[in-house]
Amino acid sequence: AQVDRALQACVVDVADYPQEGVMFKDITPLLADHDAFTAVVTALASAGRDEAGDVIIDKVVGMEARGFILAAPVALALGAGFVPVRKAGKLPRETHAVSYALEYGEATLEIHRDAVAPGERVLLVDDVLATGGTIAATRELVESCGGSVHAVAVLMELSFLPGRETNPGLPVTALGTV
Ligand code: IMP
Repeated sequence: AQVDRALQACVVDVADYPQEGVMFKDITPLLADHDAFTAVVTALASAGRDEAGDVIIDKVVGMEARGFILAAPVALALGAGFVPVRKAGKLPRETHAVSYALEYGEATLEIHRDAVAPGERVLLVDDVLATGGTIAATRELVESCGGSVHAVAVLMELSFLPGRETNPGLPVTALGTV
């Protein structure tokens, strides 16, 4: 109930941003509300636990930029490490890179090669699951390091886009559906 309230009262729809026809979900009011932020971080973190409440992941990966803001406190809540996946050219050491198609054009994401160790289990955290391309690309990066993506947790999924279908076999926890 606290999570529903956080998503309903603290996420603002912005029409035609960043381009015409897109209804952008602005989560900054949620981040500014301590109770709402706490509720969603706790709920996202539960995707990294089993039914007994034991932590079953080693790393939490967040994607630039809003993913960072959510994934870092989730990592702390789980007692796990945080790993950033960044846009091309931002990470200073040796990386793996994956390019993927956007609605218009292409994007490249990178991870430090040593950020996830072989055999480690990873939870991916982001704000919005739309087409699922960002999650699919990040999964490839984690697998390039030898890790495996155990689960995905997002604040909101856009039900009119095939985010889950793009990522078969990957359990997705979405705190809300739009
Ligand atoms: P996808 O790769 O198409 O699933 O898009 C997901 C990425 O785009 C996430 O990293 C989101 O942060 C961003 N995104 C897509 N739609 C929205 C939106 O309506 N609000 C905020 N971020 C969005």
